[in-house]
Amino acid sequence: MTDCIFCKIISGEIPSQKLYQDELVTAFRDIHPVAPTHVLIIPNKHIPSVNDVTPEDETMLGHIYSVVRQLAVQEGIQEQGYRMIVNTGPHAGQEVYHLHLHLIGGQRMRHPMG
Ligand code: AMP
Repeated sequence: MTDCIFCKIISGEIPSQKLYQDELVTAFRDIHPVAPTHVLIIPNKHIPSVNDVTPEDETMLGHIYSVVRQLAVQEGIQEQGYRMIVNTGPHAGQEVYHLHLHLIGGQRMRHPMG
């Protein structure tokens, strides 16, 4: 997608602090971190949101969990814990329409369900 900011991050056209990249996914630091660790993990394929996921994406989606585990170890947050967030659509406040998972940790967080 030529107009997608995250596609441009994958290709390197827009600079980012990349932590990991392979043939399926890319991980980089969020530009406005809400915690000491705030990493975005995205598919290299342009998928606007969870609403656009198809069965052929299942391998990549499972792989994202593996990459999260690796990043959690790398960031030293695996013991104390972390949160994974996927915002979908306007009610969830999704801003960038390229599927992404937020990996957030490094500090205690309020429970999102109150
Ligand atoms: P969401 O609200 O779930 O769509 O989250 C989009 C996230 O992308 C926000 O946390 C932004 O801070 C982050 N973001 C937007 N542009 C960039 C960028 N160029 N590099 C890194 N993170 C970005």
